[in-house]
This record gives sequence, structure tokens and C-alpha cells, in this order.
Amino acid sequence: MNINQIQTRKVTRKVFVGHQAIGGDAPIAVQSMTKTKTADVAATVRQIKQLEDAGCEIIRVAVPDLNSAEAIREIKKQIRIPLVADVHFDYRLALKAIEAGADKIRINPGNIGELSRIKRVLGLARNYEIPLRIGVNSGSLEKDILNKYGHVCAEALVESTERHIEICQDFGFDDIVLSLKASDVKMMIDSYRMIAARVDFPLHLGVTEAGTYQAATIKSAIGIGALLADGIGDTIRVSITGDPVAEVEVGFRILKALDLRENGISIISCPTCGRLQTDLFSIIQVVEKRVANIHKNLKVAIMGCTVNGPGEAREADLGIACGKNSAILFKQGKIIRKLAEDEIVEVLIREIQNWNSLTDNDNGGFTNDATEILAEEFVK
Ligand code: SF4
Repeated sequence: MNINQIQTRKVTRKVFVGHQAIGGDAPIAVQSMTKTKTADVAATVRQIKQLEDAGCEIIRVAVPDLNSAEAIREIKKQIRIPLVADVHFDYRLALKAIEAGADKIRINPGNIGELSRIKRVLGLARNYEIPLRIGVNSGSLEKDILNKYGHVCAEALVESTERHIEICQDFGFDDIVLSLKASDVKMMIDSYRMIAARVDFPLHLGVTEAGTYQAATIKSAIGIGALLADGIGDTIRVSITGDPVAEVEVGFRILKALDLRENGISIISCPTCGRLQTDLFSIIQVVEKRVANIHKNLKVAIMGCTVNGPGEAREADLGIACGKNSAILFKQGKIIRKLAEDEIVEVLIREIQNWNSLTDNDNGGFTNDATEILAEEFVK
């Protein structure tokens, strides 16, 4: 689905992080954060390149000290995607990171201190034409806001965010992206819904401290997914305690599940059950590995039997509906050929690699009754 077809997406202002647009009608961007010491340029560039290969569109690096801020200059020369400097409290690090070439700065103006310091950071960001992300986090809310609400809650996250926005706007700066991250998924959803109803700045979605792969994937799919389904969100980061490449893969999977982005081969497969009469697990494992680096936007269904197989296979660009040690290959809804089990992987991969749309006369000589063809296999 093209982004323009998403009727329900909330329209936000568009900002640019380097060449990457966020907000407005721009596709929802997938980002990640490096886990290396930023001052270790070689290790950081190596990780960013892995992330670029996985499709990452914006990378954030931690800037805890001046060496890290200075390293941005060298890192930027060696990477293709825009870089965000993640700074907390110290305005000097923000200034250095901007001068070193950061494409966006993540810092909360209310945490910088004196107004003269805020003015310098926002002034430099304006001179360099880079946006700022206000990133409010449930783990680091201002004391007075916490005291007011008595505990961390969505209203507190929103109040904190609005306070930072106001500071920026007092200086005439509104090149802003917002995030309101909480480790509590429900609170995170509520916070973003509230802020989306009040302002039109682009929103960076994420569940913070989401945990290791399995927990983080589930929490992010629910939190980020619920908001995206509401039409809220302009860029996403899945936080995983582990390999950042997985953050990007999961991010695209969430977007693909909602038809918001296409990125490579999307495999639809059935969970299998007692009706299965082919080795579907091995077939899917091999196909998944072999298509990992094919950047064609195709839906490929690999289904276990006649119950849902022909239906799903017919809806995909390419579909396999298995029978007893055999399968039917569909292309754009038409049956192309019958396959022996040991041919399935090779033929499917070849069809993906050589993808071209069917002509009207392409039907492989079969009638379109897959159920009948497969039923023959079952009764053998
Ligand atoms: Fe079972 Fe067939 Fe459905 Fe797969 S498609 S889960 S094998 S009924």
C-alpha cells in the first residue's frame, strides 16, 4: 500500500533529518540506536553499516562525552544514513555534536539549564538547519511534575513534553520531533494518543526498556502497532536488549503487518496442524534465509494444505499451497504449475528472483481449481 492511500494517518508537520523526511506524507521511517561506544569510530561505523544493510533509515548514537561528540565528524564520513546525537543535560555536548555534523539532536531543552544555554543550542540547530527531538521518558520525568501527579502517568509525560515544546517555541524554534516513551505499554499508548490530539509535531514512537527480543517484540508490536493502526506515528524505534539489527527487522515487520511499508519479501505462512503432509518447516526456513537479501516487494504465501492454502496462495504475489508431498504454485492468483515437494524451494526462489508480472495468457495450462488438484494428492 502506498503511503498516500493511508486515509487515517494523522497529518503532521514534515521535518528533515538529513535527506530523510519525517512526518507529513513521508513513509514511516525505521530507526535504531548503536550499542557501541560512540568514540570507538571503527566499531560504531561497523554496526551502522550492518544496520544500513538491514534497511535502517536513521541511526542514533549516544553522546555522553566530548570524545563521542567529536567522533560524529568521522562517523558521518563513512555512513549513508542520517545520524542523531543523543545528548542528556550537557549543552556543550549538544553544541559539539551539531558542529560535528549530527543531522538531528535529541535533547530536552528543559534539562539544559540556564536560558542562555538553551538559546545557544537552539540557535546553532537553527543555523545548521537540523531538527531537535524532545524525548520524554517515563524513567526521567521532572520532579515537580512527578510530585504533582504522585506517580508516572500519561498526563505527566504529556505535561513534560508540552513544557519542553513551550521552551522551544519561546525561542521561535519549532523544527521538532516528539517522543513520549514509557516501559508500560498502555501508558505509552495513552501518552501518544493524548499528545497527538494536541499538537501536530511529528511523533517518534517507541516502547522504552522493552526487554530482550521476545518481550520487546511483543510490547513494541502492541504499543507501536496500536498507535500506527490509529494513524499516529511518523518514525519508529523498536528497543531490544540485544542486536540492533533485530530492532530494524522487527520495526519493518510491524510496518509491513499494517501495510504501511514494503521492504523486501513478505512471507505469509500457516502455523501448520495435523493436516500437514509436507515438510513445511524446512521449506519455510530455507526460503526465509534465501530471500533475506532480495529487495523486491513481494508477498509470498507458503501454506500447508487445501483448507486455507489455495485462498491465501491466490491472494499473494506468489503462493504455494501444499498437498501430499507436493504443491500447487500460484502467481498473481493463477495456478502456474504443480510441484513435487523437492522442487518447491528451487522453483519458488527462481520465480522470486525472475519476478515479472503475468500476462493474460499465462496460466500454465491449468484450470484454476487448486482444491481439486490438491485433493487428488490427499486421496492417493
Ligand atoms: Fe493446517 Fe492447512 Fe491451515 Fe496449515 S493451511 S494450519 S496445514 S489447515
